[in-house]
Amino acid sequence: MSGSDQVRDVVIIGSGPAGLTAAIYTARASLAPLVLEGEPSSTSDQPGGQLMLTTDVENFPGFPDGVMGPELMMGFKKQAERFGAEIDTVKASKVDLSERPFKIWVGDTEAEPTHLAKTVIISTGAQSLMLGLDRENELIGHGLSTCATCDGFFFRDQDIAVVGGGDSALEEANFLSRFASKVYVVVRRDELRASQIMQDRAHANPKIEFLWNTSVVEYVGETKLEHVKIKNNLDDSISDLAVTGLFIAIGHKPNTGLFEGQIDMKDNGYLKTQPGKTATNIEGVFASGDVQDDYYRQAITAAGSGCQAALEAERWLEANDDAHA
Ligand code: NDP
Repeated sequence: MSGSDQVRDVVIIGSGPAGLTAAIYTARASLAPLVLEGEPSSTSDQPGGQLMLTTDVENFPGFPDGVMGPELMMGFKKQAERFGAEIDTVKASKVDLSERPFKIWVGDTEAEPTHLAKTVIISTGAQSLMLGLDRENELIGHGLSTCATCDGFFFRDQDIAVVGGGDSALEEANFLSRFASKVYVVVRRDELRASQIMQDRAHANPKIEFLWNTSVVEYVGETKLEHVKIKNNLDDSISDLAVTGLFIAIGHKPNTGLFEGQIDMKDNGYLKTQPGKTATNIEGVFASGDVQDDYYRQAITAAGSGCQAALEAERWLEANDDAHA
């Protein structure tokens, strides 16, 4: 075996609010968890998860004056380490959950497995789909956002836009109209994908204006978004849209590639868990946070489900592992 041949009680894959909360709880239960936190990259699939790409977080309880996303995640990490969680800045490259102990690889997938585990907690999160325009990552949290619930409040009395034509985009536009003076919905085609009821609600909202056959093609602004350039997809003409905030709502993608063919998934690729639980279809494998949540997608709900996964893993070990009996 190239890595450790010690069989770990718990390996946690992912280090957003779910993974690190699971680490705090399992560390305090003396299970010496190993967290594979991921590797820094340009996407939200990175150590600390999506909060590393945000600025002010004002809805995480316990921080009456708000907290910066990266600072909040540093706090989670320090707290997990304080109780003995081992945190490795690597990405799992392959898992084999077909037999116990579960096998996890880092790096070379042809080599012997790097880690063996009695239980695995999967907290690999999800990513918001992005437009892929220049400076997108720099401007997230500086006028560009993927979460109306989180950031809408900052755009009081301003003109803003939402990109997308599905239920998410219209839900965000309706929500944002509580704060903003005007909400443009930028739709690339001449029709929406959203359900009729959401369409009716948006059409009835006097603050919402649809820009049909339109794409955002450039973000303009030095340190924060000042306006965007949009293209008319029918005649390719370019114009400026004066908005100080742009919400991208074109869908999400769970980070579940590693588990394809091994763990039951919903039609949209999110991991399936038992109702009210984090247990997956494989005994001893738990899924927490956004990787199994296509509905709430909040840091606090992810943290809550990380706690559930830790307690379920602990109880599973107590019931099934002689060393813990
Ligand atoms: P959807 O996949 O339903 O919609 C994505 C939208 O974004 C489409 O209008 C699509 O355009 C557009 N889009 C995709 N890529 C781009 C791009 N690169 N540039 C511009 N526009 C783009 O995703 P949602 O997140 O809206 O919804 C996901 C699921 O969740 C759906 O099943 C939805 O019904 C559900 N949901 C339900 C809610 C509710 O019931 N309250 C709330 C939110 C979501 P095009 O149509 O041209 O492909």
